[in-house]
Amino acid sequence: MKLWTHIRRLRMARRYRWVAVPCPGCGSDDRNPLVSRDRFGLKSLISQCNSCGLVYTARNIDSQQLDDFYKNHYRFFYESVIRVDDSYVYRSADALKAAYRMARVQETLGDFSRVLELGCGLGFFLREAKARGCREVLGLEPGEAFHAYCVQQNGLNGQVEACSYETLQALPFRPDLVVLFHVLEHMPNPGGCLDWIRAHMDPEGSLVLEVPDLMGDWSDVGLGNFHFGHRTYFSSHSLSHLLKKHGFHVFAKQTDHVGIYPGNLRIFARLRESEGVEVPEEAGLTPAQWVMECLETWASSRWDRRIIKTIACRT
Ligand SMILES: [Zn+2]
Repeated sequence: MKLWTHIRRLRMARRYRWVAVPCPGCGSDDRNPLVSRDRFGLKSLISQCNSCGLVYTARNIDSQQLDDFYKNHYRFFYESVIRVDDSYVYRSADALKAAYRMARVQETLGDFSRVLELGCGLGFFLREAKARGCREVLGLEPGEAFHAYCVQQNGLNGQVEACSYETLQALPFRPDLVVLFHVLEHMPNPGGCLDWIRAHMDPEGSLVLEVPDLMGDWSDVGLGNFHFGHRTYFSSHSLSHLLKKHGFHVFAKQTDHVGIYPGNLRIFARLRESEGVEVPEEAGLTPAQWVMECLETWASSRWDRRIIKTIACRT
């Protein structure tokens, strides 16, 4: 069954155009390759940009085809999900994660009332927001089965759009909270997304981002973090740098070692300058050194270690 699933994945991957990708942070093609293949065995050339230091996949699906990929194939690729049923919802623990996230966001920000979520998945965070009195919420969710779950099971009829931010017709309100939980690293143009958010959010509002922290502890998931869906591999430093470049000021940073996701990094930012937590410069290993140092310790099986010997680009 697993072999058949993998064959199906590879067939899906072949439906798309795979192209060379410049750095999503600065557009440079000058890169240092770190890992040649991802966890699916696809040649995604995980590299570090020699200009800005961002780690990213230098070969990936053409961004013109991403709408189709996320609408039809992403969830099967990533989690072997064909339809959203009770079993999947239980295993995903998304309702628990949403309650936990909401608690962390509220204790950090206080009150908010107009929430926009890009990539809202099953819609549990927005359901939490409504339950806590938020008057206006909107989610963007391109995955068909996930969009349907938002409407039918989480009461978001008229409050979730099956599109990306780039194809959204109009925002019905100016959000004072914008959240992206494990979404920004999937975007071909994360800086463009931040520009769009900056133009549409309440100037006094807040942006909350969660991404897998490249410098986190991945020992529980082996090579799981490396897959072509993750077009950028952020660290606290590189994400803060990108936010600053696009007009945001980081004022709080949190990590969750358990509960949400291994190596979860949560960053709070807003448009106006304010007192808050300055994110320190990273000391010690560079992201490239970190990846190369950790690859073998992240391997969760002998099979992983054998794969790593093949895919690590030692220069
Ligand atoms: Zn760059």
